[in-house]
Amino acid sequence: MADVEKTKAVAVCDGCGELAPVRVWPDGTIHPIGSEDGCCEEADYRILEDGESAAAFE
Ligand SMILES: [Zn+2]
Repeated sequence: MADVEKTKAVAVCDGCGELAPVRVWPDGTIHPIGSEDGCCEEADYRILEDGESAAAFE
């Protein structure tokens, strides 16, 4: 995998409250894993937790 430069984290969407595994890119933007379009139209992710727990979502 070529994901080593991207930080995995767990985020919550401020739009709908959904928890989502995300990657934080080096430029600071947050990208949901598995759905680049996000979970809803208002998708706006807030990092809850960094680290290994994000792996459990994959
Ligand atoms: Zn949402």
